[in-house]
Amino acid sequence: MDKPEINEAENGDFLTNKFFASPVQDGSDDAFALLMTEAIRGIDSLKPLSRNSSAFLGENPELTVTRDHAQRAVLKPEGESFTEVLNQIISTFEGLPNWGHPLNMSNICPQENYAAIAASMLTQIFSPNILEAEYAWNTSIAELESSAMLADLAGWDAGKAGGIFTYGGSGCWMYQLKYALSRVLPDSREQGIRTDAKVLCSEQAHYAMLNSTDWTGLGMNNIIKIKTLPDTNTMDITHLEQVIRECFDRHIPIASVVCTMASTDACAFDPVKAVRKLLDRYPNHPQYGKALLYCDAVIGWSWLAFKDYDFAANPQNFTEAVLESAQKNCEAIQEIQYADAFGVDFHKNFSPLVSSVFVYKDRSEFENLLKRESSAYLQERGDYNPHNYSLEVSRAAGGSMSAWATLKFLGANGIQHVLAHGLKNKHYMLRQLEFYSDMTCVNSADNGAALLLRIYPEDTDAALQYAQELHDETSRNQLINHNTLIQKISDLLWKWFREKKQIGGRFTPYLSITKGFRPAVYNKNTIDPEAVIYALKVYPVSTYITEADMQHAIHCIRLARNEVV
Ligand SMILES: *Cc1c(COP(=O)(O)O)cnc(C)c1O
Repeated sequence: MDKPEINEAENGDFLTNKFFASPVQDGSDDAFALLMTEAIRGIDSLKPLSRNSSAFLGENPELTVTRDHAQRAVLKPEGESFTEVLNQIISTFEGLPNWGHPLNMSNICPQENYAAIAASMLTQIFSPNILEAEYAWNTSIAELESSAMLADLAGWDAGKAGGIFTYGGSGCWMYQLKYALSRVLPDSREQGIRTDAKVLCSEQAHYAMLNSTDWTGLGMNNIIKIKTLPDTNTMDITHLEQVIRECFDRHIPIASVVCTMASTDACAFDPVKAVRKLLDRYPNHPQYGKALLYCDAVIGWSWLAFKDYDFAANPQNFTEAVLESAQKNCEAIQEIQYADAFGVDFHKNFSPLVSSVFVYKDRSEFENLLKRESSAYLQERGDYNPHNYSLEVSRAAGGSMSAWATLKFLGANGIQHVLAHGLKNKHYMLRQLEFYSDMTCVNSADNGAALLLRIYPEDTDAALQYAQELHDETSRNQLINHNTLIQKISDLLWKWFREKKQIGGRFTPYLSITKGFRPAVYNKNTIDPEAVIYALKVYPVSTYITEADMQHAIHCIRLARNEVV
């Protein structure tokens, strides 16, 4: 290998070129590329050899890390070789969920597409910093263009809108709250929050509401939860109106109303247009600024990819059932146009963690509201310098770059296919469930991919039993007993998954459970914490899942039930 001369920098015994990526090309054999290849080959060796395998990486299912043990770690005087360190890194991935695996049906998952992986890995090599133009240079195009594409999909004027990548859907929640507080209580930026402004969101809203109200100092008690409708899980607009009117009458400022678009399990979209009308009808008292309308669209944004789909001609030949759900979701998400801002997670089934963007309709308002003085040691060398209003200081470009790569690589068609695939799996399972009267899907009317299943002892008429448990207070004990049964089945399936138990020659799928799909109908405001609906959760969104995998999942659930009973 031709040794790059620069690596012979005088550095005593410390061999720079052994540790740090060379700033010049590594010679004809590209030593750096070889090291990275070694890393990728190493991590790939944890993937199973065939589909007939367990849905986690490597061989060892045990959780070997304990906090007690880890806390005894100390820095050693001598470093270890690259290969030794690499092997240790790789070994920590042993047992981790293999998100794209066909038996991973546990939750919405960060399945990584090739372009997004490459995009985020490359930003690790040269570390563009999207705090300002000087350190991001042309890489800031990823943040700017991704935001523009999303604003355009939302039906906004992309030229007037903007977006900023941040640390997750919870970061987007934080941004909306800061935006809202800065608008509604402008003094709060200098003097702190001195007024109990309210944040309104539905009972089904994500618990990130707690992080942001807590960490901003607004206080978690300033969240007002709006009831949801029992059939659709969407915000009850009548209850919302009562709450907004009461705030209006008592001159209590509303910081923001958050519409969830969509909720994680039920795929419920709140009615943004109706919320906008209420906020217009009952504005904050003139001493306060205008309340913000935010859409937590971190999961639901992707249905916007169907915006220009010709549902009548159906060029991609989606089945009737898939088409119907896709169209409903697409119509529902388009109400996002009435919001002031929305959040998007690309890592909910497209890209590596973490890739989230907070998109706002009025760039000039948002960026001016949050503007701070520039730091003395940063010079503005271009016109895009988000450090003046961003939450973070240094911001890695990995999230924006992998989002941008995802949008370019998949295009609208690719996103449609990923979404349709989940729906197709769900509808296939729903049809299969018709053969089993002791099982029922409690959310079959939802338009998302998740299936929430209740299974009962054999010979039970599940649909009838569930209807009683849901509505009838005299069935409360049965509801609770069957919740316990479902909990035990879920625990056993988890054990089988981790133990690599084979059923009918195939490994046990990775499923999960929800312990509060909804309260029983008589259990108003969930006063009784036990009278709630538990369900096994099957979230079949990995793009590698086939019908046979769905059938296998049913088979395993039934077997676990038999064992527990
Ligand atoms: C996942 C999720 C969040 C939290 O997002 P993170 O990226 O995990 O921080 C917020 N809201 C909804 C609806 C979600 O599904």
